Amino acid sequence: MHAVAFASSTAGWQARAFGSGADDVAVVFDAAEPGSATTAVLAACLSDGDGRALQHEEAWDWTLNRRLHGLIAVRLAAGDASLELQAPCGACGEPMALPLDVASLGSEPAAPRFAWRDAQGVEFRLRLPCGRDLRQWRDRASLSPMALARTLVEAIDDRSVEEGVPWSADALPALDDAFEAHDPLTALRLQAGCPSCGQVNDVACDLEAALLAGFAGRQAVLLDEVARLAGAFHWSEAEILALPRWRRAQYLRRIDGAGSWA
Ligand SMILES: [Zn+2]
Repeated sequence: MHAVAFASSTAGWQARAFGSGADDVAVVFDAAEPGSATTAVLAACLSDGDGRALQHEEAWDWTLNRRLHGLIAVRLAAGDASLELQAPCGACGEPMALPLDVASLGSEPAAPRFAWRDAQGVEFRLRLPCGRDLRQWRDRASLSPMALARTLVEAIDDRSVEEGVPWSADALPALDDAFEAHDPLTALRLQAGCPSCGQVNDVACDLEAALLAGFAGRQAVLLDEVARLAGAFHWSEAEILALPRWRRAQYLRRIDGAGSWA
């Protein structure tokens, strides 16, 4: 177990592993609010160089790309770089395993703002979506793809979008590609050969969901440990969670009858 640094050039955040602290049992993984589980994991596990915990409000302000890098750092802090994603083959439907080394995805978040030119040479100034955008998009469920894209365009040829710059839905696919090229993590695509039929698949992966599923599994293990210790020693949840990890492990071995007090 070790702390993992990320985003070193902008702010030196340190990540700890998820699944051992009192904050970790409070994370709700099946919350209806989009982004809230990620925000809670980041706030529980990240601290700055002075040991100050990341605040929830700040985590909501981070781009989706930066939030993903934060989740990856939390995963790496547990010493676990390999993640297995699942997807059905597009040709034969057989399930495929897509192994991913999350350490290979880098530790430096993409710049939150970038410029892009369309085929006609028109310059778009764009911003990456942040956690807060997820909540706003959810509240405006009827938002068209065009209106949604508009929220991420800050200027077109140095004029604000509100000034009525001519711009049509034809630009959307190219704009999508521009976001994907600048931030390949948020809409991660993996190539996978199907073991059954040999078809090479280009699979869109939900990296955030896969990372959160891993943390939810760790939380379930932690809660199970609490239940076993409470049953055996009649300590409260808070008392058990306040124990350092090595002492919890020792008491659990004692329950299993394998522990030696020597
Ligand atoms: Zn196949």
